[in-house]
Amino acid sequence: MGGNAFSQGAEERIGEGRARSADGCGDSGVRPAGAEVASVEPAAAPAQPRTGRLSTVPYIASWSQERIRRPPLVRWVGVGGEGIGFAGESAYDRDWRGVLWTRQTLARGKGHPRYHTVHTLRQRRAMRRMLCQVCGGPTPQDGPRLFVLRDVGRPVEEGERTTAPPVCVPCARISVRECPRLREGHVAALVDRPYAWGVAGIVHHPVTLEPLDTALQEVSYEDLAVRWTLAHRLVVTLHDCTPVDLDALAP
Ligand SMILES: [Zn+2]
Repeated sequence: MGGNAFSQGAEERIGEGRARSADGCGDSGVRPAGAEVASVEPAAAPAQPRTGRLSTVPYIASWSQERIRRPPLVRWVGVGGEGIGFAGESAYDRDWRGVLWTRQTLARGKGHPRYHTVHTLRQRRAMRRMLCQVCGGPTPQDGPRLFVLRDVGRPVEEGERTTAPPVCVPCARISVRECPRLREGHVAALVDRPYAWGVAGIVHHPVTLEPLDTALQEVSYEDLAVRWTLAHRLVVTLHDCTPVDLDALAP
């Protein structure tokens, strides 16, 4: 149940042919500066918040009291050159690669769940640490990770980009049953090597600092444009993928 923590909203839509979003039920990731995220995001609670609509609220879903903050952008000079920044940045505003991230407050379980909006920090944390996007628990450290994506007419491809973190097997079964986008069709793969490729975010003009587009663009960490990008999602590429049938997996 990821992308939109059960389906992505327009804000996080990513063009066809590019990263498959967390739609199905997930956003997939890698691991941010450990201390950085760990210090602001408590470990996933064992019990999931309940709602009358779905049996669980995905870990990466936003809650109504988790607000996006939009401080004015400033020109910022960091390691490697110029880019965008916030005045008065905190340690949590950038990832381990130095990319600026959208600020969103943390109030998990407060208000009502917003299934169609992924929480920026929890998505990044789930990707970076390979946590299940639904329950927030760890996925197997000594084996391949399970990724379940919306079916777009083909299996998960080698090197495919996604913003949907992995899922554990029990949560995968819940996801394909309850997540509207995944119910329409899903594909699953065991992935040996997920790789933190870049971010999906809003790219800004280096002179005017105005957004170049209102839609999220995927920008590689190797692309200089990433310095002018305000990140919303971590994008991972999937390598050494083996397609699987969820029914054939052990619980
Ligand atoms: Zn899980």
